Amino acid sequence: MINLNPVLDIDKEDVVNMTPIQRRKVLKGIILSMGGLILPPSFAQAARLNRITDIRMWTAPDHTRVVFDLERNTQHQVLQLRNPSRLVLDIMDSAAGIDPATMGFSDAIVNRIRSGIPRPGVVRTVFELKTGVRPRSFLLKASGDKPSRLVLDLVRTKGKSKTPGNKPVIHESASKRRDAVIVIDPGHGGIDPGAVGANGTKEKDVALQVAKRLARKIDSMDGFKAKLTRKGDYFVSLRKRVSVARKHQADLFVSLHANAFRLQSARGTSVYMLSEGGKPSPDKAIRRLEQRENSSDLIGGVKLSHVSDPTVRGILMDLTQRDSLNRALVYGKNLLGELKAVPRVNIHFKNVKQAGFAVLKAPDMPSILVEMAFLTNKKEERLLSTDSHQNALAAALASGTKKFVKSSGLA
Ligand SMILES: [Zn+2]
Repeated sequence: MINLNPVLDIDKEDVVNMTPIQRRKVLKGIILSMGGLILPPSFAQAARLNRITDIRMWTAPDHTRVVFDLERNTQHQVLQLRNPSRLVLDIMDSAAGIDPATMGFSDAIVNRIRSGIPRPGVVRTVFELKTGVRPRSFLLKASGDKPSRLVLDLVRTKGKSKTPGNKPVIHESASKRRDAVIVIDPGHGGIDPGAVGANGTKEKDVALQVAKRLARKIDSMDGFKAKLTRKGDYFVSLRKRVSVARKHQADLFVSLHANAFRLQSARGTSVYMLSEGGKPSPDKAIRRLEQRENSSDLIGGVKLSHVSDPTVRGILMDLTQRDSLNRALVYGKNLLGELKAVPRVNIHFKNVKQAGFAVLKAPDMPSILVEMAFLTNKKEERLLSTDSHQNALAAALASGTKKFVKSSGLA
């Protein structure tokens, strides 16, 4: 499908004369239009971009081959992302003359193909994978009547046998799959009580109570495992909470809080995710990871320390952060949908609210913060102290988590 994006309705002169802020807006528009965007030939020529003139795909028993015909040889990079398993191919200094997403290709290795323009001049193709692959890519120079070509092989690393012999094909059993790890973060703790209600209910206590109930429910679901960032009444720094989650290789992070406001009438439940403005720059996010002792951490399935080119590291981080934000939004919507159905819950904000909370800044985990109720509202303070309401909230959060994980192919 082709997205017609009004922000692209500019010529090259405009791009050159833009202020950085305007340019950022344009870039943002282009990024938001992910999903099959094709630049007109005139734009490509104006920017002297390489054009991708054809794409072909074949299925072999142990690999899928994709060939991009190019006007000239150009640089490319391949990134692997997990949860769900994807392979991202960026072709630099290029414009797409053909959209691979429209080919509707799918086989035993590739589930679906998406495409987009993450930045002007970069053609991105995302292969959603059904199986583990080892990518192999190389350029072929033009020869005879054949143009320059970029060849990408997605070589299967596990699953079915290579040789189509008499041997029975052994499928991986579902039970062998890694559980989806949900890290639950009860807000505050120890010397930091958080909000305190008129009747003395402390945020740190109700957050821990609901977190424990939620953890039990998640642990009881097939294919899920819950971890808590604190199990008792003690102080844990925000940084530590995030690093605990990363240590457990969390697939999702959900922080539980209760609100306070000077007006007693304020009430309701809210779901927050990190705002675009609160997102650390890719460079800052990389520095943060490096400062921590676990700097060998994987980002998007790639060991950051193995990527020497700082530009590529930046791109990788940016891609990962964006992906986490997109997924957090969907996860947040799932939670909000379930919370709406809980009796006596008032939804404070109809949509997932965006804010710059530090605990949501992990670059590679979709992270959500839930303000369960206002402790400064007498009715809600009472409600949030009851077993039945705590259980109902935990059930809604567990159910929203399950729905998100099932729909996103995490488990
Ligand atoms: Zn709080």
